[in-house]
Amino acid sequence: PDASSFPSGGLRATFEARGYTAWDPTSYAFLKDDSLCIPTVFYSYSGEALDKKTPLLRSMELINRRALRLLHLLGYTDVTRVTPTVGPEQEYFLVDQALARKRRDLTVTGRTLFGSRPAKGQELDDHYFGSIRPRVMAFMQELNEELWKLGIYAKTEHNEAAPAQHELAPVFITANLATDHNQLTMEIMKKVAERHGLACLLHEKPFAGVSGSGKHNNWSLMTDTGMNLFKPGKEPGKNKLFLLMMNAVIAAVDKHQDLLRISAASAGNDHRLGGAEAPPSIVSMFLGEDMVAILRAASMGRRLDKIERTTLSGSVQTLPNFKKDATDRNRTSPMAFTGNKFEFRMLGSSFSVAETNVILNAIVAEELELFADRLEKAEDKEREIDAILAESFTAHQRILFNGNNYSAEWVEEARRRGLYNLPTTVDALARYAAPENLDFFTRNGIYTEAEIISRTEILYESYCKIVNIECRTMLEMARRDILPAVLAYTAKVASGAQSRRELGLLTDDSAEMRALTRLYPLSDRLSVQIEELSDILRATRATEDIVKRAEGFRDRVIPGMDALRATADKLETLLGASDWPLPTYGDLLFSV
Ligand code: ADP
Ligand code: MG
Repeated sequence: PDASSFPSGGLRATFEARGYTAWDPTSYAFLKDDSLCIPTVFYSYSGEALDKKTPLLRSMELINRRALRLLHLLGYTDVTRVTPTVGPEQEYFLVDQALARKRRDLTVTGRTLFGSRPAKGQELDDHYFGSIRPRVMAFMQELNEELWKLGIYAKTEHNEAAPAQHELAPVFITANLATDHNQLTMEIMKKVAERHGLACLLHEKPFAGVSGSGKHNNWSLMTDTGMNLFKPGKEPGKNKLFLLMMNAVIAAVDKHQDLLRISAASAGNDHRLGGAEAPPSIVSMFLGEDMVAILRAASMGRRLDKIERTTLSGSVQTLPNFKKDATDRNRTSPMAFTGNKFEFRMLGSSFSVAETNVILNAIVAEELELFADRLEKAEDKEREIDAILAESFTAHQRILFNGNNYSAEWVEEARRRGLYNLPTTVDALARYAAPENLDFFTRNGIYTEAEIISRTEILYESYCKIVNIECRTMLEMARRDILPAVLAYTAKVASGAQSRRELGLLTDDSAEMRALTRLYPLSDRLSVQIEELSDILRATRATEDIVKRAEGFRDRVIPGMDALRATADKLETLLGASDWPLPTYGDLLFSV
């Protein structure tokens, strides 16, 4: 096919259009809309991968080879294949489609650019455990059936924290299929929603003031002999394979925090990360106190197995007693060990899970290789394992944090530990093609230098384009919907004041006078801010250098948008309901 209409990041000129597809036989073909769909890879004429699938497959082969080498050195010679498995939990919003269509911001950008806080948001915590409303349940049932038809094992569905927010989780599968399936899931969600008169919003932050949507990437490694390499077993302290695997992930995440952060970087996700609703932009790992104690003991040559499991009892005779989990859950950590898998929680709801898994596979593969190199050379393997467990844990334990990742103290503590804090996409992208990362990707055969440089450029471009579209949509709505409504309403109130004056009834306390003294300054400010923002946007767009342009969008355009929004949102609370031109947050969030 023609590759010229595909983002190229400077890889080729428009006249160099040829692209190549090839069937990926590890992801089965399927029927959709009466068409046979074949999952494929996509290359440019010059041979660079243009897709997300090729690097993912490269990373899966890499970790297979490296994990096998380690397993064979440790005596697990019956294993012939190691596959990363992934289960992505998908969050989304459902709102009434007719209402959503009345908002240009939702239809064009996928998120609301204006909207004052409704009287009720999520403060009562009554949605997550609330009953699923019939219209949503009907959607979920049909969605499941459509997904099952495609071989996607949709399993869990429930309400999420914010009003109108929900989640779907499939049964985990190999990383490649999980990535394709998640892509299809997002598409089918939107289609099925339409059939139910609903709009499915996959944006990371459709509504300010309530939680946004993420995607949790559950990741593990499975052998063809049925072993989960992160299963602690009854005696984890004795389980050298498990201890090595855990240390490999700890070291990998510590060394490559920036790459994991980049895999979750986008203009949309910038609204979520660090907003006390999703992990901060600082990558760290939660293992739980018990697991940290086991690994620390192993690092000091001691063996600790006992994951204390006490019994919980409701003190009611008819109720069962049950065993407590070894550790509590920590919902604030970007990367949590959850019993036998890792859950990466930074991803945004609209993301492909490909890049996160490319990074996870590649960085862990490299650690496994380092371990295998040492074991191969060692005279005494057991002693060498103990040495690795000691050195690796000591060197990388700074990445472990079991506390509250949302707290301000953690930001300070992470700085003291020397961890990366890359708050925005623009900060994160600066690291993608850093020399050590280029070296890492090329050394491991994940990306070529040209691929990484072009991808960096595409990510910068798409950041700028997204904020540009949002800003233009905002200006259009402010000029064409909001300002006219405000002026019309103000004129109506002013003419009311005029008739009172004629009757000699107008005082400073009259309702009309009070309204006008609020409305006039705000509508003036709105029109000034519209002009200011459009000047800022023009100047920023004209910035030649892509990095400077992205910084301009971050440092000038976005704050300008926030300021304009604040004024418009105040005005929304002053106008009559029928005078305001847009469905409100209250309308949208409680519409289904
Ligand atoms: P949470 O409690 O975080 O909401 P869920 O039960 O909703 O978790 O989802 C957990 C996800 O993790 C599911 O998609 C599940 O299939 C997946 N999962 C479970 N075991 C593994 C594994 N070994 N490898 C990858 N994913 C897994
Ligand atoms: Mg989860």
